[in-house]
Amino acid sequence: MAGKQSRHRLTVVSGPSGVGKSSVVGELRRLNPEIYFSVSVTTRAPRPGEVDGRHYHFVDRARFQEMAARGDLLEHAEFAGNRYGTPRAPVEEALRAGRPAVLEIELQGARQVRAAMPDARLVMLVPPSWGELVGRLTGRGTEQDDAVRARLVEAERELAAAGEFDTTVVNADVRVAARELLDLMTGEDFQTVDV
Ligand code: 5GP
Repeated sequence: MAGKQSRHRLTVVSGPSGVGKSSVVGELRRLNPEIYFSVSVTTRAPRPGEVDGRHYHFVDRARFQEMAARGDLLEHAEFAGNRYGTPRAPVEEALRAGRPAVLEIELQGARQVRAAMPDARLVMLVPPSWGELVGRLTGRGTEQDDAVRARLVEAERELAAAGEFDTTVVNADVRVAARELLDLMTGEDFQTVDV
C-alpha cells in the first residue's frame, strides 16, 4: 500500500565550548517544542542558575560509573576533567514515539553516536572566527583560567574534526543559526517515503 511516513533522525549538535551551543539549542527549543532535547548526566558541579534535572542530571562519579557500566548511557565522555553522558532510554523512547530528538554533546560523544547510529545527523556549530571564540570563553567569567585554557585546547581539537560532520552551521547570530538547524531537521521530517 502506498502511504506517507515521516522519518525522524537523531540530531547531534556539537561544537567547541563557548560557541553558543546552549543558546542555539535553547532557541531551537523555543521554535519547535515538539523536539525532544536530551538532558545529560554529568559529574561537573552545577554553575549558578543551573537546575538539576533541567540543565543536567548532576551525579557523583560513582553513580556515573554505575550508569555507564550498566549500559544506561547512549554515549559518554570525559571532558575538561568531568564526565558527561546521554541517558539512553529517553532518547530511544522519543524516537520510537516519532519525535525528533537532539543531543548537545562534545566530539568524542558525537563519534560514539555515529558508530552506534549511522543514521544520526551530525551538525557542528562553529564560531564566525577563532578570535570570537576566545573572546566568548574568556568573557564568560564562569571558569578559572586553567579551565578556560583546557576548554581552548579542546576547542581547537573539536574544530579540526569538522570534516567528520554532515553539516557545519556558523553561529554568528543565535536566531539565524537555530533557524538553520530547524530547517535541516524539518527538511528531513517532511521527506516522505512510500511504504
Ligand atoms: P559544559 O560543562 O560547558 O556544560 O559542557 C562541556 C561540554 O560537554 C560541552 O561541549 C557539552 O556539549 C558537552 N556535553 C554535555 N553533555 C554531554 C553528554 O551527555 N555527552 C557528551 N559526550 N558531551 C556532553
